[in-house]
Amino acid sequence: MSKIIAIANQKGGVGKTTTSVNLGACLASLGKRVLIVDIDPQGNTTSGIGINKADVNYCIYDVLINEVHPKQAIADTIIPDLKIIPATIQLAGAEIELVPTMSREIRLKKALALVRNEFDYVLIDCPPSLGILTINSLTAADSVLIPIQCEYYALEGLSQLLNSIRLVQKHLNTSLQIEGVLLTMFDARTNLGIQVIEEVKKYFQQKVYQTVIPRNVRLSEAPSHGQSIITYDPKSKGAEVYLELAKEVISYEQAAR
Ligand code: ADP
Ligand code: MG
Repeated sequence: MSKIIAIANQKGGVGKTTTSVNLGACLASLGKRVLIVDIDPQGNTTSGIGINKADVNYCIYDVLINEVHPKQAIADTIIPDLKIIPATIQLAGAEIELVPTMSREIRLKKALALVRNEFDYVLIDCPPSLGILTINSLTAADSVLIPIQCEYYALEGLSQLLNSIRLVQKHLNTSLQIEGVLLTMFDARTNLGIQVIEEVKKYFQQKVYQTVIPRNVRLSEAPSHGQSIITYDPKSKGAEVYLELAKEVISYEQAAR
């Protein structure tokens, strides 16, 4: 059985892309077959995993708009069990181009149905908005993973995200679940981080992952080398915590069965 997880939060800079790349790479290193779908027009996941955008033949735009078979858009990475459907700046036009089209909210779901059985996990890296691309992701997904940055106003804007999730559950995807809430960029030197963790746990309770991602310079350096943390610096704290997270994700799935 494959599982499709949307990594979503309409706030930018909370760790969606970092989590998509590194959770994906760690799941693959634990023997899972993983597909990352980059659906953010900025394409940070695509370049962060070592794909040169100039070399991309078909990207997620072609899958959504031109009905290219997703298999044609799947690219290899340096990790054998980790594949990606890349995004290029072409995708920036998709929000507008999708508006007048038929079944615009279920395009990604339909496309992923053609390939999901070849993977254990499909991770969708969402853009920082609640527009049609994020709605497509929530509609295609079995569950949503919400990264929250440990900073002031951490919970701000989350009610809008939760509202979008409820609307999708009501109209487009009744079985959509919250996979988990991930605290990111934690700084143990400040009281603020600890306060935020308590606040988020009060709100989301057992949905919060035990693994908390600390600030780690190596995590922010890895994308400029086109690598995930486990190939860039496997001994770093960043590699250690994302591996822990991957094990936690796998264990919840086993427990649910
Ligand atoms: P989003 O995709 O939500 O916009 P990113 O994953 O791109 O967020 O993260 C925003 C910035 O913060 C990036 O420059 C990234 O390298 C950096 N970053 C993310 N997580 C960490 C972390 N745990 N430690 C240090 N830097 C991080
Ligand atoms: Mg991003």
